[in-house]
Amino acid sequence: MNTASGIGMTSQRTRNRMVERLREKGISDEDVLKAMSIVPRHIFMDEALAHKAYEDTALPIKFGQTISQPWVVAKMTEILIENQPEKVLEIGTGSGYQAAVLSRLIKQVFSVERIDELTKVARKRFIQVGYRNIRTKTGDGFDGWQSEAPFDAIIVTAAPPQIPEKLVSQLKENGVMILPVGDDKKQNLIKVTKTANGYTEETISAVMFVPFLQGTVRK
Ligand code: SAH
Repeated sequence: MNTASGIGMTSQRTRNRMVERLREKGISDEDVLKAMSIVPRHIFMDEALAHKAYEDTALPIKFGQTISQPWVVAKMTEILIENQPEKVLEIGTGSGYQAAVLSRLIKQVFSVERIDELTKVARKRFIQVGYRNIRTKTGDGFDGWQSEAPFDAIIVTAAPPQIPEKLVSQLKENGVMILPVGDDKKQNLIKVTKTANGYTEETISAVMFVPFLQGTVRK
């Protein structure tokens, strides 16, 4: 008991420090900072790397993928929740960390991952931490999640070469999609806002994500 609560206290302290650093780096939404002080990022990675969980860096997970850098998670989340969405789609579940953060801020989170093994591991972690408002499936994110569309907002955490039109079609009018667009040399974080007859685009900052790939992977 003592040991367990001791570990809990230590990770809470390091998490609070991470949040202070995010604040210094310009993240100001108190709800986002609160969510990131709650979600145990170390649970979403391999134990061997857990000691680095609260550093502001991306870290490798299985299958050559990465858990996004906390600042990038915070920035994308800040933009995503501006219009108080209630139903959000994530493409690229990966470790599940971004979905976990969203689930503390948004009523319903749907998340699609192309690598079946990652979907399964993320699902176990959501149960472990008791986050029940996240639904996941293995699928090709190019197709979105048609049966649950339209969404108030969409977040893509792998970089396609251009904006996937099918995902825009699954947004409500005035809905926002935040995504990295580019290749392995240059990518920009883009905010797409759906309008009555198309969409508008705004460039936020340069970023680097793993590529958005087509098809699914099942062992
Ligand atoms: N949001 C994740 C980031 C993981 S990295 C996190 O917080 O950990 C991006 C993920 O996108 C990888 O797991 C990769 O397999 C997945 N991905 C890439 N292309 C995809 C596609 N077309 N459909 C669904 N997932 C995809």
